[in-house]
Amino acid sequence: AKTAGKNCVIWYDRTLRRRQSERIETVAKLRLALDADEFAVHYQPIVDLGTFRTVAVEALVRWLPPGEAPIGPDRFIPASEESGLIIALGEWVLRRACSEAAAWHREHGVTLTVNVSPRQLTDDTFTAKVRRILADSGLPATALALEITEGILIGAGTGSAQALAHLEALRADGVRIAIDDFGTGYSSLGYLRDLPVDILKIDRSLMPAGEDDHRQIALVRTVVDLARSLSLTTVAEGVETAFHATLLQELGCDRGQGYHFARPMPATNLTAGQFGQVPI
Ligand code: C2E
Ligand code: CA
Ligand code: CA
Ligand code: CA
Repeated sequence: AKTAGKNCVIWYDRTLRRRQSERIETVAKLRLALDADEFAVHYQPIVDLGTFRTVAVEALVRWLPPGEAPIGPDRFIPASEESGLIIALGEWVLRRACSEAAAWHREHGVTLTVNVSPRQLTDDTFTAKVRRILADSGLPATALALEITEGILIGAGTGSAQALAHLEALRADGVRIAIDDFGTGYSSLGYLRDLPVDILKIDRSLMPAGEDDHRQIALVRTVVDLARSLSLTTVAEGVETAFHATLLQELGCDRGQGYHFARPMPATNLTAGQFGQVPI
């Protein structure tokens, strides 16, 4: 047993080292990719469940290495976050998305929502960067929402105090704050009341499988009611079926986002007819 254990340790050590060096390689590649302008922002419509019109779009980053298949964020955001590259990448995404969305906001009243990693909120200059990007792009602060996960704001560490200071400063400018993936992780209801939050995005794992999934339906109802009692705008993620859309509408959820309405798409596809009413 002792030898097996030892082998195990050696194996683990090798695997770990291999993974670490893969990570370092990935980060080096990502850095080059950012310099070479290989990233793109795709946009997914967020639909008002009263009018079935697109009222907002979420910016979702893609890596398009030339001559290769597109690479999704789940494959490079974690390494970017660990290495700190997310600070530069996140700024790039925000700048690109704000400048593309400015015209959509002017012409269609559509607002923009952008994901922000915890690491970005540890950057002293985050508030100043966002303000500069808004000023440069001409997108009003009130047309931007920042999506964060709840973990960022929980706990009393200096990190969360700094994050809170950034969010409060930007919120005073009119930028809205959304809690992403609500219902996963350490969802605690009490803190929602005390934090600078405007929008609650209900995670797609909470979507019921069908009409008989009474437990999940009750769960979504509870979350929607809670959010409404706190005057938060509710957005359901993972709206994949007509059943989801009508259920959410009945429950009083404000907005929906998901494959049933539209997939994330490049800016050019979006402007070609995505701002009208979507089919239910
Ligand atoms: P997220 O913020 O929860 O974004 C929604 C994800 O769900 C997107 O995956 C989207 O394509 C997918 N999705 C949308 N509708 C449906 C649906 O009906 N069914 C299913 N099964 N999935 C749906 P994507 O684009 O691969 O992004 C994955 C995650 O990567 C995002 O999750 C977000 O956490 C992160 N991410 C994406 N772009 C950025 C970024 O610019 N900055 C940061 N920090 N994170 C980003
Ligand atoms: Ca998001
Ligand atoms: Ca989400
Ligand atoms: Ca997510």
